[in-house]
Amino acid sequence: MLYKRYGNSDVELSAIGMGCMRFDDHVILENKFEKYVELILYAHENGINYFDTAPFYCHDKSEIITGMALSQLPRSSYYVASKTNLATLQNECTVDGFRRRLETSLKRLKVDYLDFYYLWCMLDLNSFYENCEKLFGFFQQAKSEGLIRRIVMSSHMQGDDLVRALDTKLFEGVALGYNALNYRYRKSGIEAAYNSGMGISVMNPLGGGVIVDNPRVFKFLTEGTNLNVAQGGLRFVAAQKEVSVTMTGFTTKKHVNDAVKAIENLEIKPMAEICKEYENKGIILNDLCTGCGYCNHCPQNIEIPKFMDAYNDKLLGRSIVKRLRRHWHLSAKAAVGCIKCGKCEKMCTQHLPIIERIQEIASL
Ligand code: SF4
Ligand code: SF4
Repeated sequence: MLYKRYGNSDVELSAIGMGCMRFDDHVILENKFEKYVELILYAHENGINYFDTAPFYCHDKSEIITGMALSQLPRSSYYVASKTNLATLQNECTVDGFRRRLETSLKRLKVDYLDFYYLWCMLDLNSFYENCEKLFGFFQQAKSEGLIRRIVMSSHMQGDDLVRALDTKLFEGVALGYNALNYRYRKSGIEAAYNSGMGISVMNPLGGGVIVDNPRVFKFLTEGTNLNVAQGGLRFVAAQKEVSVTMTGFTTKKHVNDAVKAIENLEIKPMAEICKEYENKGIILNDLCTGCGYCNHCPQNIEIPKFMDAYNDKLLGRSIVKRLRRHWHLSAKAAVGCIKCGKCEKMCTQHLPIIERIQEIASL
């Protein structure tokens, strides 16, 4: 296993980390946790030392299962991360509510401290600022008491918003969705984080399944290797110098083996170099929205990047409606109301026919 430094810290994380959230529903609901306890131990045996969990993952059982496994291992042999935010605390946005949430995670994970505690799932700048204002002091207090080692954040923010959030310099690391599908527009955020010494954990390295489900579109990821496209997708991210750890979920031991094989003999290179190599091969997925967010601020409040993300699924042979419903919790109806002002198309970095696509979605 290859280990990479987490930002400017002295922490060395395995290049592949385990996201503890891909456990089968029916196994979890039958309380058969042993299978996944074994899986976590198997990942650790194979050199993985970073385990990422959260409240509510896997019917709220992920932290429990992760704790059952990690408590069998020396505490110094792994790093564990969990998460919280205002939404998680619900009506308990007080120091006591925060403390209860954190103590529940510590108890379930059977540890005295968390290596990483995330301000979880920042979707936009407004919610980021609100979460920081109300919770950051609690995080600092917990850190000063030794209950958490590093205060980090996870973000789904678009384009420059992420750079602005990172500019606050409040966090020691960031987790973000990054993959061969969206690499062009995430570059600025990753570079900003790396240059300021933050650790970077990548979630969603396979584009929510888009890469795996479209092996022909993404076959460039496996050129010159005998890897499958999922392994190629992991390798693409893990090879980038700026990325500390590439997180992926496992359901079986084969998934662990595949991920470990994906990064065998990995040559680490700067992100700019790797991305340029792909662009030089003419691999520009021109018709796809990259999620950069420059088309935001529609006068009709249509959430254009989310709809264009769902339209990507159509181009890749999947369902727009499912993507809207399952990923964005939106209905196609929310696209109704476009007045064709053209503001969004002028801003689009991919020069996409947004108006036509919005109308098509609205008609679904
Ligand atoms: S053209 Fe339609 S979708 Fe685009 S900004 Fe104007 S109203 Fe919004
Ligand atoms: S539609 Fe264009 S501007 Fe909007 S997020 Fe997608 S690529 Fe960026």
